Amino acid sequence: MTNTNSNSSMSKSQPLPSVPFLDIGRENAPLNAEIQEAIANVCKAGYFVMGPECHKLEESIAEICGVSNGIGCASGSDALLLSLIALDVKPGDEVIVPSFTFFATASAVWRLGAKPVFVDIDPVTYNLDPAKFEAAITPATKGVIPVHLFGQSADMKAIGEIAKANHLFVIEDAAQAVGATCNGQPVGSLGDVGCISFYPTKNLGGFGDGGMLVTSNDELAERLRLLRAHGMKPRYYHKEVGANSRLDSIQAAVLNVKLPRLEDWTVSRRRNAGSYDEMFRAQQLNRYLTLPVTQSGMRHVWNQYTIRVLNGLRDGLRAHLQESGVGTEIYYPVPLHQQQCFQALGYSAGSLPETELAASEVLSLPVFPELKIEEMQTVVHHIARFYQSRIPSVTTQVTPGVMTNA
Ligand SMILES: *Cc1c(COP(=O)(O)O)cnc(C)c1O
Repeated sequence: MTNTNSNSSMSKSQPLPSVPFLDIGRENAPLNAEIQEAIANVCKAGYFVMGPECHKLEESIAEICGVSNGIGCASGSDALLLSLIALDVKPGDEVIVPSFTFFATASAVWRLGAKPVFVDIDPVTYNLDPAKFEAAITPATKGVIPVHLFGQSADMKAIGEIAKANHLFVIEDAAQAVGATCNGQPVGSLGDVGCISFYPTKNLGGFGDGGMLVTSNDELAERLRLLRAHGMKPRYYHKEVGANSRLDSIQAAVLNVKLPRLEDWTVSRRRNAGSYDEMFRAQQLNRYLTLPVTQSGMRHVWNQYTIRVLNGLRDGLRAHLQESGVGTEIYYPVPLHQQQCFQALGYSAGSLPETELAASEVLSLPVFPELKIEEMQTVVHHIARFYQSRIPSVTTQVTPGVMTNA
């Protein structure tokens, strides 16, 4: 027998099939032939870095983001770093960032000798709290980096107004949110420059690292184009010291195949999020879990479907799901202001209470586009069982058909 699940017999105690947190293979497999051909074409042409595929991708992404310039680069992290360089951030400058985000948002600031100033989040959206941003502004503040966490835009109207009134730049960290909108405007078009990541786990993921800068400021775009390629123009003449942060043609070729499917994938992610909401409510599990909230005026693209597990039960629930074969992730377990490398900044425990509470309660569930409805039912079923064993009043009445295995 090659069946390692040992559940080939149709017994009543047969465990439900496991549910992966993310299965990139399901997304890429149907495109395999097209992708192979696109890669083969790059190999044939031999233009491996910043080839025509890169320019095509730059134009397509700029269009999706509603801006006039797309500038490919090596990663989302580099997009953030290049943005800060292009906006003249210098040692001693302060840049306001959330602490509840991926590391790169703040490390880019730190790398330039500038100071990341961490502010707390809105506990409902997990995004930068505009009031906290305003309160953190000092004469040294040069700009702000709102992050569109989990695929929902930050409150860009409020953030933009505060930034404008204080002459601050706005860099959008849109690494998780390509395709999201705020009041009908695409993310990436809402600040001075937007930063996108093509890391494989993002909504539009390549076969390795890749990133893009988007902006309607042509002067800034020109500077970014120089900076990503050693400040070189023309060849071997260097105007300023830049970086080697170019986009590979093979990545762009893969992404050009995938991009026309992005909208369908987003629709699927949105449908999956809606299905979870319905299932959790039907079982009244929203008494124990806080479900994600989409603010009015926002189009959420669900890079993550993240619940809050109340009553200190997050790690217990996660362990239960893991034992049941359900993959989950914690984004993010340690807020940036509490990371060892930022100790010198002097933030003490309790300094960003909403961020710290979120870090202890959040749990991201599988939400990838190809996730099947039965798989979501399985996830919800195992969560219901967890609470049933703790709180007798929780009843498990999942959709008929799924419970027959329980
Ligand atoms: C992924 C991510 C980045 C970094 O992107 P890379 O392409 O992995 O360098 C930056 N910010 C956020 C919020 C991210 O999720």
